[in-house]
Amino acid sequence: MEYAELEKYGEKEADFLMNKFAKMEDDIDDSCTDNFRVCKIGNAAEEELYEDHKSSSCCGEEDREVTHPETGKQFKIGCNYGH
Ligand SMILES: [Zn+2]
Repeated sequence: MEYAELEKYGEKEADFLMNKFAKMEDDIDDSCTDNFRVCKIGNAAEEELYEDHKSSSCCGEEDREVTHPETGKQFKIGCNYGH
């Protein structure tokens, strides 16, 4: 995931999300991960784009809901793997 794509959520959230994406990649431990996606939960337009993005790929799917410990903002992050 590119930091620039996360900056719109604010600096704290962008750093938080970068860490969560890194953790997700570590957990999956696959050399082929792609189709990284993110949305703010509760933002209907973003959630719809997220689902579109998700359905455009194949093979393994990983989606996680994460909450920033200070701001309480909730996000969904995901990717595909194992191609
Ligand atoms: Zn595939």
